Amino acid sequence: METQEGKSKVKVGIPRALHFYRYYPFWKKLLEELDVEIVLSPPTNKKIVEEGVTHGFGELCIPVKIYYGQVLKLIREHPDLDYLFVPRYVAEVKEAYFCPKFISLPDVIKILPGVPKILNFEVNVKEFPIVTSVIELGKELGKTQNQSLKAYREAQNYFDDYHKFLRQGASVNHALRLVQRDIPFKLPKKKSKGDIKFLLLGHAYNIFDTFINLDFQKKLKDQGVKVITIENLPEFIFKEPVIVNPKGGGLRNYWKHEEEIMQSIRYFLTKGRDEIDGVIFLVSFACGPDSLISELIMRDMKVVGLPFLEITMDEHSGEAGLLTRVESFVEMVRRKNKKLEKDAKKRTMIKSV
Ligand code: SF4
Repeated sequence: METQEGKSKVKVGIPRALHFYRYYPFWKKLLEELDVEIVLSPPTNKKIVEEGVTHGFGELCIPVKIYYGQVLKLIREHPDLDYLFVPRYVAEVKEAYFCPKFISLPDVIKILPGVPKILNFEVNVKEFPIVTSVIELGKELGKTQNQSLKAYREAQNYFDDYHKFLRQGASVNHALRLVQRDIPFKLPKKKSKGDIKFLLLGHAYNIFDTFINLDFQKKLKDQGVKVITIENLPEFIFKEPVIVNPKGGGLRNYWKHEEEIMQSIRYFLTKGRDEIDGVIFLVSFACGPDSLISELIMRDMKVVGLPFLEITMDEHSGEAGLLTRVESFVEMVRRKNKKLEKDAKKRTMIKSV
C-alpha cells in the first residue's frame, strides 16, 4: 500500500489481545492518520493459546499468555512487518496505575524470537501528557509535529464517538467489528431479548475474547439473559473514586481497571440496585489485582442481597463445567425473582384487606 506521496506505507503489526479490546479504535485511527498500514492478528484460537502457554511461564495470567501467542502468530505470518506496536500503559489518570504486566509489556515482548522493531507509545500521565508520546510516535514514523497533532485530534474524536456508541448499548465486539471494517457506528436492528439482566464484570480482554471465555455472553443470551458490561454504563458512574473502608481511615484503589470495576459495583449497590438481577465477574487465574477486589465485591453483594457469581478462567477451562455453573446461577436468580414477586403480591393483598 502507498501513502499520498507515493511511498510505500510502513507496516505495523498489532496483536489482538490485552488492550486491543480497550484501545484499538484509538490506535487504528492514530496510526492510519500517520500513514501506517495496520496488520492485525486473527481472533484467538487453540493454537495461539497453546503457543502462548509454551512461551509464558506457568504463573502468568492467561491474557498475557494469549498476547505472547498472538505476537508469535503475527510475526510468523507477516515476516515483512516494519514494526510491532506494543504500547506501554503505565498511568492514564494521575491517581492509579495499570497492572505491572502492562508496564513491562514492551520489555518482555522484545525478547521473544523474531520480533521486529517495537513501535513505542507510552501512556504515563504521571510523568508527561499523552500528546508528548503521540509526537514521539510521529517522529519515529517520519511525521512532523503538526501532522502528529492532527492525527491525535482525529483519533481522540473517533474514540469519543466510539465510547458514545458503547454507552448507547452497543456491545464492544459489535463496535470493534465496525471499526475494523471502517463502517459508521450503527446499533444492530435486532434488540437483545431476555427476562433478566446481568452485569458482566471483568477486564475487556476477558469479557470480549470469545475463545478464552468460551463465548460466555452467548451462553447467557441463549438462556434469555440480557447482558451489560462496564463499557455500556454512563460516564457519571466513573467520576468519583471508591474509598474502601472509609470508617477505618479509607483506602483508594491503586489499579485503574479495578477502580472501574469497583465504581460500577458501587452504582449497582446503591442507586442502580433495581436495574439488574445479578452480577457475574470473569476473573483470570493468577490475576493479583482481581483477587484483591473480588473479596470486597462478594462481601458487598451479600449485604444488599444481589446474586453474584465469580468465574475463574484459564487455559484449561471446560465448556461443560462452565455451562452447568451458568445454568444453575440463572435458574437461582429466576427463582429468587419469582419469590420476590410473590411476596410483593402477598403484601399488597394484605394491605388491601
Ligand atoms: S490485571 Fe490481572 S489479568 Fe490483567 S494483565 Fe494484570 S495480572 Fe493479568
